[in-house]
Amino acid sequence: MFTFTALPMRVRFGAGSLAQLPDEVAGLGLTRVLVLCSREQEDIGQRVAEALGDRAVGVFSAARMHVLIEVVHRARDTARELDADGCVAVGGGSAIGLGKAIALEHGLPVIAVPTTYAGSEMTPIWGLTEGGSKRTGRDPRVLPVSVLYDPELTLTLPAGLSAASGINAIAHAVEGLYAPDASPIVSLMAEEGVRALAAALPAVVVDGANLDARAEAQYGAWLCGAILGATTMSLHHKLCHSLGGTLDLPHAQTHAVVLPHILAFNAAAAPQAVAALSRALGDAPDPARALWELAGRLDAPRSLRELGMAEDDVTRIADLAVANPYANPRPITREGIEVLLRAAWAGEQPSPAIMRL
Ligand code: NAD
Repeated sequence: MFTFTALPMRVRFGAGSLAQLPDEVAGLGLTRVLVLCSREQEDIGQRVAEALGDRAVGVFSAARMHVLIEVVHRARDTARELDADGCVAVGGGSAIGLGKAIALEHGLPVIAVPTTYAGSEMTPIWGLTEGGSKRTGRDPRVLPVSVLYDPELTLTLPAGLSAASGINAIAHAVEGLYAPDASPIVSLMAEEGVRALAAALPAVVVDGANLDARAEAQYGAWLCGAILGATTMSLHHKLCHSLGGTLDLPHAQTHAVVLPHILAFNAAAAPQAVAALSRALGDAPDPARALWELAGRLDAPRSLRELGMAEDDVTRIADLAVANPYANPRPITREGIEVLLRAAWAGEQPSPAIMRL
């Protein structure tokens, strides 16, 4: 038995599709959009504004990690001054997160133009940081009204971030496969998403200008993002949220390090997920090990130590992980989490023994 609720999802996909953005904006009845991006991606923001011509009223280039409320208010004031009737958020999860916060607080529709593989554009999940603490929630109003995937915009994503962001996307599929609200449609998308990303990422890392590989990776990221939007995430996402929020570790890289260990921890309780991942990873006998090896081949980080985490923080994070109950295919034990975190901290390969802790 299962329940599947399809979210409204409108996607334009393909190399060069940025040229269709003016049509997309016009088709949605918008005439004065504000382009949102990070300072590092101001050039892409300007490119998007130029592609939009008269339909763009300005570029707000102060999007940052964690969606600070002060930045949301400044962006809102800019949108008001310019009489904007919508936003186009171009960038990774941080820029798209800013668009969602404006949609949530001020009702402006957002069109997303993603340039990483994080997947935020496919979800109704928002995050907002106020006074140092981050709140998150789900609200259909923040779901972008349209998403334009142009792989040409990902050509500049550095190899390291491409690898980590791609594994971040795979993590959505892994947890979607064993989610309490999993369904056959989600499983189809997950297997295909992981297959596409695992096939494309090695080529992307070797040659970031390989447009076919970039398109394949972004296709996988779309599917994986849709899974994040459609299902309830489990231990992996909660643990990465604690690591990121408490220790300020980088988002995508933290996911890349932790994922193989979580899969090893959950594998025995999620045999169908393991079977799907095995197929997606080229009939890998042990998908947790295969993901760890993939991270190695991509030169992605494999230890929390190299991300700047102190070993002493392992117990603090393990305490946090067991403080509140949440979905997971097997019970979360304090001992299991601590052993898992120590292995992830040191960069060890995931141990099948963790299944019994
Ligand atoms: P990010 O948006 O912070 O981007 C990381 C860096 O890469 C930034 O400096 C950005 O300017 C740069 N960058 C992005 N695309 C580039 C490109 N094509 N070329 C060159 N540089 C580029 O990182 P992210 O991993 O995409 O997103 C992480 C944030 O998104 C986190 O805060 C996370 O919580 C949030 N997130 C939210 C959801 C959701 O559903 N709400 C989903 C995934 C991630």
